[in-house]
Amino acid sequence: MSGSTENAGVRVGVLALQGDFREHIAVLRELGSDAVPVRRPAELASVSGLVIPGGESTVMDKLSRIFALREPLVAAIAGGLPVYGTCAGLIMLSDRIVDGIEGQQTLGGLDVTVRRNAFGAQRESFETELQMPVLGDAPMHAVFIRAPVVEAVGERATAIGTLADGRVVAVEQGNLLGTSFHPEVTGDYRFHEYFLAKVRAHSLTA
Ligand code: GLN
Repeated sequence: MSGSTENAGVRVGVLALQGDFREHIAVLRELGSDAVPVRRPAELASVSGLVIPGGESTVMDKLSRIFALREPLVAAIAGGLPVYGTCAGLIMLSDRIVDGIEGQQTLGGLDVTVRRNAFGAQRESFETELQMPVLGDAPMHAVFIRAPVVEAVGERATAIGTLADGRVVAVEQGNLLGTSFHPEVTGDYRFHEYFLAKVRAHSLTA
C-alpha cells in the first residue's frame, strides 16, 4: 500500500502503556501519518487523534492511573478527540462493562455495554469475514483474540459491524470508534483509513 499524502503531517498517537501498540504505529505510518507512542500527558496533548490498542484492559486501566494519564484521557475523549479502540481499547472506551475484574474502570465515552472475553475458552481466537458497509462492499477479514462483544448499544452509539449471528463487534459514536477485532494484523487498513479521515476532518474544524 502506498503511503497516502493526505495524511502527511497528521499527528496521531497510539496509547503505548501495554499491548500491540507497535503494530498500530506501523500501520498508521504506512498510511502516511505521523504516528507516535503516547505514554505521558504532554504526548497526549500533542496529537490530534488516538488509537487505544489491544492488550489487556485490566492492566491498561491500572497503568493509565500510574502514568497519570487517566484524567487527561477522560478529558480528551470528552473534548471530542477522535479515538479508536481495538479489543482491549474498545473495553477502555466503553461506558459499561460486564465481566470486568474487581474495581476495573474504563475511560468511557462510547454509549455501549461490552462483555469481556465474550467468546469463551473454546473460541478464544477466531477469524471471519465481516460486512462493514462504512468501509465499502468488500468484506473485512476480522481477527478476534480473547475479544469482547458489544452486548448493548445505547442511543448515542451506532453498530457498524455485526457477526452473522447479529452480535455487534464494531461501533461508532461521533469521533469515537471501537472494534472487537484487530485490523492492524491483517493488511487491510481500511478501518485505520476511516479513522484517519475522522482525524483530518476534526483537525479542520478544531
Ligand atoms: N481479553 C482482553 C481484555 O479483557 C482483550 C484482548 C485483546 O485486546 N486482544 O482486555
